[in-house]
Amino acid sequence: MSALPKRRCRLLVLGSGPAGYTAALYAVRAGLQPLLLSGVQPGGQLMLTTEVENWPGDAGDLQGPALMERMLQHVQRFGVEVLADHAVTVDLGRRPFQVCGERAEYACEALIIATGANARRLGLPSEEKYWGRGVSACAVCDGFFFRDRRVAVIGGGNTAVEEALYLSRIASDVVLVHRRDQLRADQLLSKRLFRRAEEGNVQLLWEHVVDEVLGDGQQVTALRARHVGNGATRELELEGVFVAIGHDPNTALFKGQLKMQGGFIEVRGKSGEGMMTAASVPGVFAAGDVADPVYRQAVTSAGSGCMAALDAERWLEQEAG
Ligand code: FAD
Ligand code: NAP
Repeated sequence: MSALPKRRCRLLVLGSGPAGYTAALYAVRAGLQPLLLSGVQPGGQLMLTTEVENWPGDAGDLQGPALMERMLQHVQRFGVEVLADHAVTVDLGRRPFQVCGERAEYACEALIIATGANARRLGLPSEEKYWGRGVSACAVCDGFFFRDRRVAVIGGGNTAVEEALYLSRIASDVVLVHRRDQLRADQLLSKRLFRRAEEGNVQLLWEHVVDEVLGDGQQVTALRARHVGNGATRELELEGVFVAIGHDPNTALFKGQLKMQGGFIEVRGKSGEGMMTAASVPGVFAAGDVADPVYRQAVTSAGSGCMAALDAERWLEQEAG
């Protein structure tokens, strides 16, 4: 028997990103008294960025951490209990559903999974060796350490381009290493990057992947990049490597219990029970990046969090008869 305190609730929300906070906001206003576990990254991915320019209604200088702080205040104002805990195991095979955290055990009638996504890694042993010693996945967190140094950003999506633009204001030189000859990032960001490359300290290394991160045992000193076509390698002397190759959904906890596709939780998608999970576990809902291989935006996450809460409310009502 575990000595952890036991909590029981009608609805438990896992995650404190835009999806989790929005779900909790709708649920509390519907009288469901939800508990929300904020996980190891309170506020979610937007805590790792600076400007958010596509959150409707905020055309000014909106910063990611400020937006998430406002969301926290919003849910707390309506009485959501936000707990600094992290789900370690879940049992969706019995009712009420059982969620074991690090600080307590939770039993809930309905569950909304909004555990988002985490930065993907290249998977090289040398990347692991120098992680935190020159290799990073967060320019906003670690860019400061690379003032007037040379750095590389790996990837060609929105995150990579934003990281490169951000670092170009701090580092002496930024090399964007991308495996194709075309960016995946949206047009506006791509244009900004090309302008910075023409005018400033950004270079683009197309059709290359990271072959190895090189170092002196303590810190990164260079990067070996390999051409994807002819296999030729070249060494770039630098001190920082920012890996920005996408995000993997945080779904390991639910493996074998929920239906997934490509690691993302599948939801039904039908009006009226859109965010109910597809694996016939009624009462379990998923929202935000964890269930979205396509859009993965703050506003779509918030929108699906709202839908999950409305679906959960309807389902709980039906269950109560
Ligand atoms: P997340 O924000 O990923 O939050 C997940 C939450 O789940 C976290 O609080 C975490 O602690 C929690 N969690 C994880 N595991 C557990 C667990 N086991 N138990 C309990 N809790 C858990 N989108 C935009 O629309 N505009 C932008 O400008 C923009 N900029 C971005 C910049 C960067 C650098 C990045 C990385 C992403 C950006 N995005 C942007 C994408 C946006 O951040 C995501 O789409 C959005 O945050 C997803 O929200 P979410 O609530 O699904 O999950
Ligand atoms: P992403 O869009 O999936 O892009 C990942 C990039 O990394 C792609 O260019 C991909 O190359 C490359 N890549 C993947 N695996 C690789 C590997 N092993 N080696 C080398 N390169 C690899 O991921 P993201 O940029 O993190 O964005 C995730 C989501 O968040 C997106 O929906 C994005 O729109 C959103 N987001 C939005 C904003 C914004 O609106 N301002 C900012 C950041 C993120 P290919 O192009 O060849 O596939």
